[in-house]
Amino acid sequence: MMSIVAIVGRPNVGKSTFFNRLIQRREAITDAVSGVTRDRHYGKSDWNGKEFSLIDTGGYVKGSDDVFEAEIDKQVELAIDEADAIIFMVDVEAGLTGMDEEVATLLRKSKKPFFLAVNKVDSATRENDAVEFYSLGVEKYYTLSSINGSGTGELLDDLVKVL
Ligand code: GDP
Ligand code: MG
Repeated sequence: MMSIVAIVGRPNVGKSTFFNRLIQRREAITDAVSGVTRDRHYGKSDWNGKEFSLIDTGGYVKGSDDVFEAEIDKQVELAIDEADAIIFMVDVEAGLTGMDEEVATLLRKSKKPFFLAVNKVDSATRENDAVEFYSLGVEKYYTLSSINGSGTGELLDDLVKVL
């Protein structure tokens, strides 16, 4: 069975931008859980010769600044259930939010391997801004830019090791 990797995080952090950068082609949506299919996109990717399915979550708030906490929690719980590893994405431009803390708490409880991706680190000065995300209780985070692709390789190197 191919490993599954889910991308979670609050709206507008750049999950879909990252997803679209990684997938080669879109797969048919085959989620059996009623009511969630429209919220999720599936794709296939590979890194260092390892193939995996990638799930982009959270389409339900596309184009909106509203944060639907219960919806995000649901997506995180689903990801914990079905994924082998999780990419938890946050946004250095927006900074740390209460919702990020809530997602981190759910992920830590789950014991599922997760990788904290600090997105929108488009320039060197933003590297320094990322340090506040250590307060989410991680030993390591990965700074990256989904728009220009920098930093994504380091994250994927470590991610595929646990698949
Ligand atoms: P999602 O809601 O988490 O799926 O976020 P999107 O992928 O839709 O991106 C939200 C916004 O952030 C869009 O305007 C993106 O162009 C922007 N964005 C995504 N990644 C980056 C990045 O690495 N740097 C910058 N500066 N903006 C980004
Ligand atoms: Mg999205």
